Amino acid sequence: MSSSKKPVIFCDFDGTITNSDNIVAIMKHFQPAGYEPIMHHIVNGHTSIREGVGAMFALMPSVQKDEIISYVLGQAGIREGFARFLDYVREQQIEFFVTSGGIDFFIDPLLKPFDIPQDHIFCNGADFSGDNIQITWPHPCEKPCTNDCGMCKTTIIRQYPAEQYEQILIGDSLTDFEGAKIADLVYSRSHLTLKCQELGVPHVPFETFDDIIEDLKQKQKQGVL
Ligand SMILES: [Mg+2]
Ligand SMILES: [Zn+2]
Repeated sequence: MSSSKKPVIFCDFDGTITNSDNIVAIMKHFQPAGYEPIMHHIVNGHTSIREGVGAMFALMPSVQKDEIISYVLGQAGIREGFARFLDYVREQQIEFFVTSGGIDFFIDPLLKPFDIPQDHIFCNGADFSGDNIQITWPHPCEKPCTNDCGMCKTTIIRQYPAEQYEQILIGDSLTDFEGAKIADLVYSRSHLTLKCQELGVPHVPFETFDDIIEDLKQKQKQGVL
């Protein structure tokens, strides 16, 4: 690591900024007929995230929109220390992006209290104009990614080249792993920690955003950031 590079943070949303995964919570709560095999296929890697998430939401009628939003707002908890973390990155003038495979209709209201500029939130969209919900994918994979991510985290990270930027990734799941392999510094929890351990990718485990603030402060003190 070199202190001459500009740090930039790419932070996952579901299970990272929130305590748990909202797409999983929505499906388990509303149980649209046929979602279970699709979710298994996603978890097993037999279907891409884009295809699977699109297919699961296509099982839900658009008229459920408001009900889904109030369900998510009522149950999603924000991880401890997130507001303090945003204060810290603003004070340090560190660029901060939310990079999420979630959907704007629940991410935007949950992030509203935190004043993150809209162009710093990368996620998927949803179209409620048809009978059933149609997920839209404004940030697809670009070369060399061929994972059919839906919202492609590595494509966004690559826009901040490693020669100029200290790329910092924060995440919790297997969908963060491709990004973790190319980032300079990884803060991980849950499945991402296990995957990094298994494949020898350097990472710093965390549980709260206060843990990340402490570690960043240490690294700044040591002059490595
Ligand atoms: Mg996640
Ligand atoms: Zn991709």
